[in-house]
Formats: sequence, structure tokens, C-alpha cells
Amino acid sequence: MKTIIIDPGHGGPDSGATGFGLREADVSLLLAELVGDYFGKYPDAVVSFTRNRNTSSSYPGPPEGLYKRIKYANSKNADLFLSLHCNSGGGSGFESYIAKGAPAKTQRIQKAINESVLGYLKGYRIGPHGNAAKNDTQGAHSRIAVLRDTRMSAVLLECLFIDNPRENKLLRDQRFLDGLARVIVKGVAAAFGLKEKVDKPMYRVTVDGEVIYDTAYEEKIVGIVLEATKKQAEVILLKKL
Ligand SMILES: [Zn+2]
Repeated sequence: MKTIIIDPGHGGPDSGATGFGLREADVSLLLAELVGDYFGKYPDAVVSFTRNRNTSSSYPGPPEGLYKRIKYANSKNADLFLSLHCNSGGGSGFESYIAKGAPAKTQRIQKAINESVLGYLKGYRIGPHGNAAKNDTQGAHSRIAVLRDTRMSAVLLECLFIDNPRENKLLRDQRFLDGLARVIVKGVAAAFGLKEKVDKPMYRVTVDGEVIYDTAYEEKIVGIVLEATKKQAEVILLKKL
């Protein structure tokens, strides 16, 4: 069994970076939920979140928030701390960080995630931001507390640039985020050798002509249908894959 702590970056009073009215804290939370859903495909993975929809509004901002997250992760005896962010500052692409001097195990996880994510992003003509696999002495961050102080493998993903117009659009696109979540989880699963459940049917969910999920399992479908009916959707389509 592998325990994965999913850490949606920022939250509460800390919006993180913003771009064209979109807040990093909201993107990271949505992405984190999708990542959590995809881990549901792996019977040997359990996930836990450092914040969620209910705690985000009252969540104390950094630095207290960061140390609470670290303490929480360390108390769980987890195998991986996966911190989800998006970048800003006028660039483009994807990059990931691990702590300086991180063990080979962590480097392998970072590499597996990078390969999986960059393969997906190619389809959108998006590449790495510089050298996509960085340690925390490189890039804009000085030292990243959640990487340095967590007592487990820790990887921080900077998923595109929120202040890049084209990438901002993608970060608002539910279908793109769903695919991104899927490949992040695939990368982690490859690194840990996790096997997917194969006996469960998957469905593509379309609401009023818009694909909401490319691949959804039954646990997820109920919530989607409820949400769609609340919004008075007219046509909800489930297609078995
Ligand atoms: Zn961030």
C-alpha cells in the first residue's frame, strides 16, 4: 500500500499566482481533486489531502499553512508528498521540483511524472520550462519548505503558466485538467509499480454536448450527474469505453 499526500498549493487568504482573473489556489484544488479521483483506480494507493474545498476558506496562509501541511504529511507516514501548483512570471511550460540532495527514489518518481506529463502536453504543443526536472536550488524558488521538511519523497509540480494567455485558457479547461490529472497519476503509478483495477467499466461523460470527463469510474459519475442536474443540464450522456 502506498500513501500519497496530495497538496493543492496555496488556499485560504493565499490565492497564489493569478492570471486573467484565474487564481492558482483554485486551479490547484480542482487539479488535486481530479488527481485524487484517478488514484481511485489503484487499489494499492490511498490518498489524503492537505486542504479541500471545506478547509480552504479558513486555511491559514503561508508560512503557517506550509508548516501545518508538512506536519500533517509527516504524521501520515506517507510515501509521497505531491504538491500541485501553476507557474507565473512570463514563461511557458511544465516543470517539477524535488529537494536538493533528494534520494534516487525521489528522482525516479520525478522522472516518471515528467515523462508522463510531458508526453501529454506534447499533444497541446507545450514543452518543459527549461530543464523540466529541477531541484529546489534551481529556478525562482530559493528553497521550498514542503520539499525540504517533509520526511518522504516530495515532488512539486508547476503546471503551466497562469499568466500565459494560451496556458491560462487550458488551465480553465476541465477536459485538459482531467487529462493532466490522469497522466500525473500514471507517472506516480509507474514509479511505484501500482496496478490499475481492470474489472471496472469506465465511461465518458458528456453534459450538454461538452465532454466533462474522458474517463470516469462509477464513484465519480454520481457526483457529476448530481452537479449537472443541479445546473439543469438537458442532456447527460454516459458512454461506456
Ligand atoms: Zn504556487
